[in-house]
Amino acid sequence: MTEKSVKASEIKSDFKYKISKMHGGEKLMRCFQCGTCTSDCPVARFSDTYRPRQIIRMAQLGLKDRVLDSDTLWLCAACFTCTDRCPQDVEVASVIRVLRNLAAEEGHIPQVFKDQCASILESGYAYKIPELKLKKRESSGLPPLPKGNPDSLCKTLRSVDFLKHVERKVE
Ligand code: SF4
Ligand code: SF4
Repeated sequence: MTEKSVKASEIKSDFKYKISKMHGGEKLMRCFQCGTCTSDCPVARFSDTYRPRQIIRMAQLGLKDRVLDSDTLWLCAACFTCTDRCPQDVEVASVIRVLRNLAAEEGHIPQVFKDQCASILESGYAYKIPELKLKKRESSGLPPLPKGNPDSLCKTLRSVDFLKHVERKVE
């Protein structure tokens, strides 16, 4: 996330209350910015921009658009190391999940995840397996890959209104 000065007009003072009312976000305001989550996060170790402590602070401050518009939010690997190590029991990984859900509701999902979702819904596989690879399997005497069955997943995602966020039509 970029470090920019904060303008008063950016601050949505009710944002922290909204998060605190959602399952997993209840302990957001307990964070005292010790930085343990960032120092132990395996993603932060390999990224110049991903800092869970910073995400939590921006959420506390009400910088809603900055947090929800940021692709960085989607780098979390949901390993829960931060949650296990937080001295304030903030459940950092769950707060990040809450923020992602809010971002998704507003249509902020990185294209790579939309494509992946569309592929799962179409074939049951996260990536479309190239025809050449399938032929190579066959010529090597390997059995065909099992057919994916995305129907039940499709039903669930339709019921939570998720499909409207995936641009490719999957019916
Ligand atoms: S470890 Fe917990 S208290 Fe420390 S910065 Fe992260 S969320 Fe805040
Ligand atoms: S759950 Fe996400 S933020 Fe927490 S340590 Fe793992 S990758 Fe980092």
